[in-house]
Amino acid sequence: MLIDFHTHIFPEKIAGRTIEALIKGIKTVQGEDYENRDGSPLAFRPATLAGLLASMEKSRVDMSVCLPIATKPSQTESINRFAETVRNEKTLSFGTLYPTDPDRDRIIDDLAARGFRGIKLHPQFQQTFADSPEIISIVRRCAELGLLVVFHAGMDIGLPPPVYASPERIRRLADRTGGENIICAHLGGWQMWDEVEKRLVGTPVVLDTAFVRLFISSEQAKRIIRTHGARKILFGSDSPWEDPADTLKFLLSLGLTDEELMLITRKNAEKLLGLTV
Ligand SMILES: [Zn+2]
Repeated sequence: MLIDFHTHIFPEKIAGRTIEALIKGIKTVQGEDYENRDGSPLAFRPATLAGLLASMEKSRVDMSVCLPIATKPSQTESINRFAETVRNEKTLSFGTLYPTDPDRDRIIDDLAARGFRGIKLHPQFQQTFADSPEIISIVRRCAELGLLVVFHAGMDIGLPPPVYASPERIRRLADRTGGENIICAHLGGWQMWDEVEKRLVGTPVVLDTAFVRLFISSEQAKRIIRTHGARKILFGSDSPWEDPADTLKFLLSLGLTDEELMLITRKNAEKLLGLTV
């Protein structure tokens, strides 16, 4: 059983052009000739539900969690309606909202009532600092309702600074909210792993393994996982930006114990998603 806690899909109609626009963003920030250093494609599969299911079959992923992002308040409702249709025994989607949306409390209550397990926030896309009053209030309300909040954390490959969800800001957010319902993508802060080790390791926040393998040293990845504790690490790929087969290969190369791997690839996710009795 392998659960991928970090994937992205879009409705059929917009999937192609959305990926094109995101790749354009990567090339604007990283340089026109930017490529993955192992030669893998920037997006390895069609960014649709069908594309996700086909890749899961190939990589033997049993369940994927989709994480949508509203980049303006007006998108929230249609994204959440689409997210609600992504519920079967192999996939489920979190909801989304825009942090400064004055309607956010109602949206959170509504998502909880509709059976969502959590929401995704992307402070970088949403230009709201992770320790802003709006996000503190969202995390608290979600905690009261039993909802998880997944954050994009650290720098973003396709968006310029400032960094809206640095490990330092996430630490402040966790200190203000308790941090138990916070999941930080990219091992706590993409390209900011020294700061993760200073500020986030040892706190209650959960970290995922998405989209780090080409950027972090194996030693540092293993050290973060070990010091933070495998009980607070989730397997996530960031598919279609990384093939979960590659994420798994990277994870298996770190020399973790079978018990640690079982927690990261399955047990922690089952617990957070309420799949165990
Ligand atoms: Zn992602």
